[in-house]
Amino acid sequence: MNCPYCGSQESRVIDSRSLDEGVRRRRKCLACNARFTTYERIQPHAIFVIKKDGRREEFSRDKLFTGIRKACEKRPLPTGAIDKFVDTIEAELYRVGKSEVPSSYIGDLVMAGLKKLDHIAYIRFASVYREFADIGALKQEVDSLAVRRELPSANQLPLPSSEAANSLVGRKRR
Ligand SMILES: [Zn+2]
Repeated sequence: MNCPYCGSQESRVIDSRSLDEGVRRRRKCLACNARFTTYERIQPHAIFVIKKDGRREEFSRDKLFTGIRKACEKRPLPTGAIDKFVDTIEAELYRVGKSEVPSSYIGDLVMAGLKKLDHIAYIRFASVYREFADIGALKQEVDSLAVRRELPSANQLPLPSSEAANSLVGRKRR
């Protein structure tokens, strides 16, 4: 590790702190006495996602981000909320430490997270991911959200009343 000021390779660690994602070290150059900080990070191994049809595909943060962003489109989420959300899912995947995970595992993580983040985004994602067979199955999911009364985030709009939900989907019911 070369000193950024004089280029000397000799430095001494004067402080070391463990972080969740690595180690932060404060160093002192033995040649010029300058102090600088280095970070040691874990290089995550590749994770492969096993799709429903059995195909394997390398886990892609971008792909996950795109899917979640689509579900959250035009939702009143704070700046960076989606990024942070994707970070937590990615971190969870690396924490589990498997080199292969079924796509359903990631899907379930996203569902659980979106449920806390934004109900509309959750329903949008669920309708693609769970492939609701009909409007009845969708309504059941919406109703279960209303019953469970998950703690809404600060920016979350309240769920429509069940009367309103009924009038939205009721027309197709027998
Ligand atoms: Zn130096």
